[in-house]
Amino acid sequence: MSAHKAKKKFGQNFLVDQQIIADIVAAIRPEPDDNMVEIGPGLGALTRPLLKRLSHLHVVEIDRDIIARLEHDYPQSDPNRKLTIHAGDALAFDFATLPAPLRIVGNLPYNISSPLLFHFAAYTERVTDMHFMLQDEVVERMVAGHSTPAYGRLSVMLQYRFYMEKLLDVPPESFRPAPKVNSAIVRMIPLPSAEIAVKNEKLYAQIVSAAFGQRRKTLRNTLRDHLDEAAFVELGIDSQLRAENLAVEDFIRVANYLNDQV
Ligand code: SAM
Repeated sequence: MSAHKAKKKFGQNFLVDQQIIADIVAAIRPEPDDNMVEIGPGLGALTRPLLKRLSHLHVVEIDRDIIARLEHDYPQSDPNRKLTIHAGDALAFDFATLPAPLRIVGNLPYNISSPLLFHFAAYTERVTDMHFMLQDEVVERMVAGHSTPAYGRLSVMLQYRFYMEKLLDVPPESFRPAPKVNSAIVRMIPLPSAEIAVKNEKLYAQIVSAAFGQRRKTLRNTLRDHLDEAAFVELGIDSQLRAENLAVEDFIRVANYLNDQV
């Protein structure tokens, strides 16, 4: 088959650094019986070493040229095939159709990484863990603590339901073509549902969006439709603070307080 030309619109930056690939697979620690799905297998940099360790692997890929390559290398008519190819958009893919408990991995297309993370979040009850390559800047935002520059809506919307850890820095030279940004591997482990303190996730999301909608404004301003001064006092939160100063636990307290009012 002729050489594949990387497509920018699909965020194609293929891993070529064998040491980094080995480090990522070691961090994932695949076990033969795992139910695993890889998002965007591309030219197989992670797919091949994963298949060495797994009895079976699912992949979701959008690029028809890459799907044709995968079908050539792993014929879907083979009854003993180890790879199941799901052709289509991972953002629209129903992960509930795959066996659980599920492990999700992928060197994600960076142009859709945030929507993908929110899509995966809908399946947390079926998911054991997730390992992703993302822009380093996004990983920093995911794991940031309050009152730090990277702390924002993404941190607060993910930290209440995932334990997250940055595992590995990956420089641009590890890819072909090299992206303009640094990358990193993050591990996300869904918290057990009993440990998720948020009573009303929709309301929580609303409060977080309102608070971070105008980052530089005080909470008194951004949350004025939700909390009056007496409510701030009752919650023990200084209304002169900004969203970035509130810990995830504080956002949970605010949302649960409002939920209990109705
Ligand atoms: N896993 C390969 C590697 O590490 O070299 C390729 C990673 S590349 C950054 C992203 C991959 O995701 C590409 O194969 C791309 O075609 C695929 N992709 C892009 N958008 C997608 C989508 N919406 N759904 C599924 N796959 C997608």
